[in-house]
Amino acid sequence: MTSTSVSSGTTRTWIRNPLGVFTADDSPGAPDARGGIVVEGGVVAEVVAAGAEPATPVDETFDASQHVLTPGLINTHHHFYQTLTRAWGPVADAPLFPWLQRLYPVWARLTPRDHELATTVALAELLLSGCTTAADHHYVFPAGLDDAIDIQVAAVRRLGMRATLTRGSMTLGQDDGGLPPQSVVQGLGTILADSQRLVETYHERGAGAQVQIALAPCSPFSVTTDAMRESAALAEALDVRLHTHLAETIDEEDFCRERFGMRTVD
Ligand SMILES: [Zn+2]
Repeated sequence: MTSTSVSSGTTRTWIRNPLGVFTADDSPGAPDARGGIVVEGGVVAEVVAAGAEPATPVDETFDASQHVLTPGLINTHHHFYQTLTRAWGPVADAPLFPWLQRLYPVWARLTPRDHELATTVALAELLLSGCTTAADHHYVFPAGLDDAIDIQVAAVRRLGMRATLTRGSMTLGQDDGGLPPQSVVQGLGTILADSQRLVETYHERGAGAQVQIALAPCSPFSVTTDAMRESAALAEALDVRLHTHLAETIDEEDFCRERFGMRTVD
């Protein structure tokens, strides 16, 4: 349900007679929804059978005869900020590690305005594709972009999306054997304090939550072991999700064998 012509709030809207309907419920007793659905207060209030009318009056009708009705798609891992560098020629076909090494200095210059635009474009693309819920992994906090997640919360609310915004982190810079330059890594104390602030400020719980916050140490090659442990402990204490990259490429496995003497998952 992404059409801007469909109101939310307490208006009862009948999304009428769709061309096709997929309700993700193929059990024998599943209701016939070929006549569409009635939406009220952001939830499905009534399912309408083929040829039938809603049982109670509606305030408005959306003609879905040229549309297929499906539940909103869910994207479980995104990097909204990378929308701006997605087609950058110099790294278009580079493997992960050289791709990251070339892009870190570019991302280190990301401004709040760039980030707002990147997030808005990413959300618009997702909505146009039928995606209504996304998880974003944002782990780049160069100087001046301390409020990266705050910017994303505002964009998500403005576009009416539902999102889990993860407070990502990088603590292992080149000076300590990591992949990213020092300019994009942060101290663990800063990361944990900001993570707690974001959860306490924005995290919504329960049915209908629009914005949720999760913690997301980036990867074995950009995060110290203590940051992984402390992030997991804080996520547990705050009762929020933990998110990370795991075994993305053979580069990462080689890094883990060399640094830890074991494979990534181990
Ligand atoms: Zn990723």
